[in-house]
Amino acid sequence: MTATNLAAHWMPFTANKGFKEKPRMLSAAKGMYWTTDDQRQVLDMTAGLWCCNAGHAHPHIADAIAHQAKTLDYAPSFGFGHALSFELSERLANLAPGNLNKVFYTNSGSESVETALKMALAYHYAKGNTGKQMFIGREKGYHGVNFGGISVGGLTNNHKAFGQWLPTDRLSHTQDLTLNAFSRGLPLHGGIEKANELEKLIQRHDASRIAAVIIEPITGAGGVLPPPVGYLKRIREICDQHDILLIFDEVITGFGRTGNVFASQTFDVIPDIMTTAKGLTNGAAPMGAVLAGDHIYDVIVEQGGPGVEFFHGYTYSAHPLACAAAMATLDVYEQENLYQRGAAEGEIAQYFERGLHSLKGLPGVIDIRNYSFIAAVEFEPLVGKPGATGSLIQTSAWEQGMMLRSLGDAIAMSPPLIMEKEHVDQTIGILERSIKQHFA
Ligand code: PMP
Repeated sequence: MTATNLAAHWMPFTANKGFKEKPRMLSAAKGMYWTTDDQRQVLDMTAGLWCCNAGHAHPHIADAIAHQAKTLDYAPSFGFGHALSFELSERLANLAPGNLNKVFYTNSGSESVETALKMALAYHYAKGNTGKQMFIGREKGYHGVNFGGISVGGLTNNHKAFGQWLPTDRLSHTQDLTLNAFSRGLPLHGGIEKANELEKLIQRHDASRIAAVIIEPITGAGGVLPPPVGYLKRIREICDQHDILLIFDEVITGFGRTGNVFASQTFDVIPDIMTTAKGLTNGAAPMGAVLAGDHIYDVIVEQGGPGVEFFHGYTYSAHPLACAAAMATLDVYEQENLYQRGAAEGEIAQYFERGLHSLKGLPGVIDIRNYSFIAAVEFEPLVGKPGATGSLIQTSAWEQGMMLRSLGDAIAMSPPLIMEKEHVDQTIGILERSIKQHFA
């Protein structure tokens, strides 16, 4: 690849100029490792972008996609069906908690979020509550890149150039290093107080104007922030008291990352609508799914008049190749016991936790937090360069053969659930060297 070959691709969420001066190219992947263009093996501690939960290039998933491409390559899902999408929906409904029994397909997490927000509006509209048009999100929340998602999201860079499109207010984020630094699993303190902020927002805006609260059970891109004990339950209670829907964005937390299929099960709080994507197909095909409660479907669809009840959908909703990938992915998760492997009290999760927390005390490290197979290490901001440390550590790790995600002054990890102790040892070694390189 020459600089000329690299010119045409405008890369997403990338410092394009920097990348093109020093490209980082991947050419193959298998299990826990990528192979780079220059034939280096790089340990994938991020499961791609939090999506390859069963590791890379799983033969069962690859074969299912190849077979489907030769059998039924495409089927429009507006007014027509194909068996696989109904089988997959039934399977997802059985895996989901509570009454989340209705599955609407998208192609990404961002589209799942837009779909969920529109479902919430359509639900209140169908009930005659037409004033309920506002959303409550959360600081540091990430809900994808489309206009609804950036409106409810709480990461400034994602909306500052694009405007605020939906009426939204935000809860404050739950991170408090004075209370909960170096927490293992759920932070212990402040959950109820933080959740009670929702009551203040409701007083300010009035429940008659608020359609839904949307939050990630564990904030991901905002820095990996597990919910303090009691937080999610209290948010659920307040929503119920005010006829406000609760949307969980499980795009990262879904499909095993917390030791159950969904974080909602791990934390025992059931939302009205749940967004998913990523791990649904193990990253092997673009697909998202929104799981809606029966009560949402019943109000919009059962009680709707004749004709199309919900004016929404995508050309590639329930794409046959993606459905095949998802069915095979769910087989793999089950056959390889990956949901159980992802449990916080599991052997590998505990080993990972102990390894990570052994880094406490290294220079520059101000926090380490994790819940099972999702973790972050946070660093002191470098003088004059706030927000730059994560990317420095990420670069050092890349040069030593490990992929991390950089999130401002933190690095995040979300390894595939097939990780073994040897991968943890490799990770801790590389992290330690990378940290010492920058903070010694
Ligand atoms: N929601 C959450 C919680 C996410 O983490 C992401 C992606 N990281 C999205 C939505 C958007 O997903 P996508 O990039 O597939 O559009």
